[in-house]
Amino acid sequence: MSDIREPYLLTPGPLTTSERVKRAMLRDWGSRDEEFLRLSQKVRSDLLKIAGAGEDYAAVPLQGSGTYAVEAMVASFVSGESGALVLVNGAYGRRIVEIARRLGKRVAVYEVADDSLHDLAEVERRLAADPELQTVIAVHCETTSGLLNPLEGIAAAAKRQGRALLVDAMSSFGAIPLDVEALDIAALAASSNKCLQGVPGLAFVLARREALEASQGRSPSLVLDLYSQYRQLEVDGQYRFTPPTHVIAALAEALDELADEGGPSVRYARYKKNCELLIEGMRELGFKTALADSLQAPIIASFREPEDDWFSFEIFYNALKQRGFAIYAGKMKSACTFRIGTIGAIDSQTISRFLENVPPVIVEMRAGLLYQAQQPSSN
Ligand SMILES: *Cc1c(COP(=O)(O)O)cnc(C)c1O
Repeated sequence: MSDIREPYLLTPGPLTTSERVKRAMLRDWGSRDEEFLRLSQKVRSDLLKIAGAGEDYAAVPLQGSGTYAVEAMVASFVSGESGALVLVNGAYGRRIVEIARRLGKRVAVYEVADDSLHDLAEVERRLAADPELQTVIAVHCETTSGLLNPLEGIAAAAKRQGRALLVDAMSSFGAIPLDVEALDIAALAASSNKCLQGVPGLAFVLARREALEASQGRSPSLVLDLYSQYRQLEVDGQYRFTPPTHVIAALAEALDELADEGGPSVRYARYKKNCELLIEGMRELGFKTALADSLQAPIIASFREPEDDWFSFEIFYNALKQRGFAIYAGKMKSACTFRIGTIGAIDSQTISRFLENVPPVIVEMRAGLLYQAQQPSSN
């Protein structure tokens, strides 16, 4: 079956965007033009609204992928001498540790298995034992597995110990409702191309203005200096360096689209339905999830690779892609897995169609009718 449509991206992002968002990129904007500056400021204020952030917070967009925002956040808000406690249960937590170390920050790491949660009492014990650690850094949805970390509990633990909380909310922002004020989050990093359903190219940090002001001069990097980016945007609405104008226009449209859908809670319900349908359907086909259901965020699901001889991820991937669906390789430490995303401009019909396409692929794989493609295209 060859679909005339491009494949659905059942990945954590970049993901399938709507026609409407794609069309928003057909115009060339002057980066210093009034109209563009208005659009750009609206994006900043819409992002704050989604996070429940008031006047005390500012949105600081940054050219680049999500990791650029995480690195900028760590560079700007972790003081080198005091350091941070990083909660790790997947590759994105490990990436934060690497970023902090490269920046010469002092890091304490509390790592648990990729399919487990941290003991919050232990988080508090570790903070109490090391009063120098001024900051806690956590990942909201660990995209490595699809696990949802309990942000409320983590925020409460950090608050009780009087520490600032930084959050990597990359794969949850826009779909898993969250209130930065209620959780007293000092800063949060996310990007345009995950649950906001925009295209890749813009990252952002939502931060307390107080924290931004206090970070002046701290970032060793020019381009990842959040304070300077913030100052410039506040002064004249301009980016310091060429903004990805088309990406920002697409994000502005994607934010309107999110509002039209009914906001994050309605989007959450759609993703949840996608994810439940996917997991139920895959289980009926004999696949096993890598996470307990209670830990699953409705963003992306990890499935154990079948141990049978017939299974090869490359072949499975290529056969599904030919049928119009791009899935994602696994990343968990503890098990061989592959992932299927349930976010983007897709609905339960897309998931049903995907599920209909899996059994014939399995039949062909079992019969040895499919061969490794010359150019495997997984990542
Ligand atoms: C996607 C993602 C990132 C950033 O990845 P980029 O490839 O730099 O966009 C960071 N953290 C989490 C949890 C993610 O899901």
